[in-house]
Amino acid sequence: MTAPDPLTLRELTDWSYAGSALAVLGHPIKHSISPAMHNAALADLARENARFADWRYFRFEVHPDDLPRALELLHTKQFHGVNLTVPHKMLAFDVIAEIDAGARPVGAVNTLLRTDQGWRGFNTDGYGLASALKENLGLALTDRPIILLGAGGAARGAAVECLQQGCRSLAIANRTPANLQSLLLALAPLAHGIDVRGFDPSAPPPDLPASSLVINATSAGLRETDPLPVDLRRLPQPAAVFDMIYNPATTPLLRAAAAQRLPYANGLAMLVHQGAKALEIWTGIPAPRTAPLMTAAAHAAMASRTGHS
Ligand code: NDP
Repeated sequence: MTAPDPLTLRELTDWSYAGSALAVLGHPIKHSISPAMHNAALADLARENARFADWRYFRFEVHPDDLPRALELLHTKQFHGVNLTVPHKMLAFDVIAEIDAGARPVGAVNTLLRTDQGWRGFNTDGYGLASALKENLGLALTDRPIILLGAGGAARGAAVECLQQGCRSLAIANRTPANLQSLLLALAPLAHGIDVRGFDPSAPPPDLPASSLVINATSAGLRETDPLPVDLRRLPQPAAVFDMIYNPATTPLLRAAAAQRLPYANGLAMLVHQGAKALEIWTGIPAPRTAPLMTAAAHAAMASRTGHS
């Protein structure tokens, strides 16, 4: 009998895989291309080093109410590492044994490493974002004015990365003002003199800086019918637009950027680089070694999904 995909808590309870297992947990998880990326990289590593021959990466559908039980079971069943995606990144922060110093200001973890005591949590999303911006747009966050759209988990990770990399200024817009205010409050101790402000995306103030990098960290654009997270024509000429969404590959925001002849990129490279950094945490193999393979696997997985060759 073939195992269901995605796997569930039921399969985890009866887990018997004897090799080194890794897993991604999410709700929903069916859309995740992380197994394709990680298993391609692991297969390649195994060709050079037999220690990776039995490493496999699995995906599990886990309801948020079941997350503590799932993490406990994964530890008992000797899983070596775990990735967390929506909606688990912030929930896990409060239930794991240890938080890496880099993940503490973000308040969310996307990568867990097994220790004898439990799970140690890391956040590789900021690394993924910075690497993708460099690779796709040739841009660094350092000394760059940033216009960030969104105030959820991904926006928070991006904002912390922007501040830690020394962006010139950070202007954040969000649909729900209360969520924007709580993000601004959380960021205040990390600003260290950098100008951080909030604004209403439906009424951008006229004094926003030109040549900014616009980063979409909202989920507006996942569906074709979603509204634009901001009207780019109402911003002073940006330097480039980055959308964290990668499926669909082209969002209405990216189409608007193309219409204005602005450089733009979607979130696929961010997904790849956060994944390569997670694999580095688990295996000790530097992320730049596995990222090209993971990129090829991610593109192949996306193409097979959309029916293109
Ligand atoms: P959250 O649910 O934590 O936050 C969602 C954000 O989107 C909130 O700011 C919310 O605003 C806003 N939003 C939702 N719907 C709309 C809408 N119709 N119009 C305007 N704003 C809207 O999600 P995450 O922060 O975890 O993820 C955000 C996006 O980033 C997702 O699309 C996710 O796929 C992507 N992502 C990509 C990654 C990558 O590696 N490429 C990594 C992480 C995330 P409000 O406060 O008003 O509800």
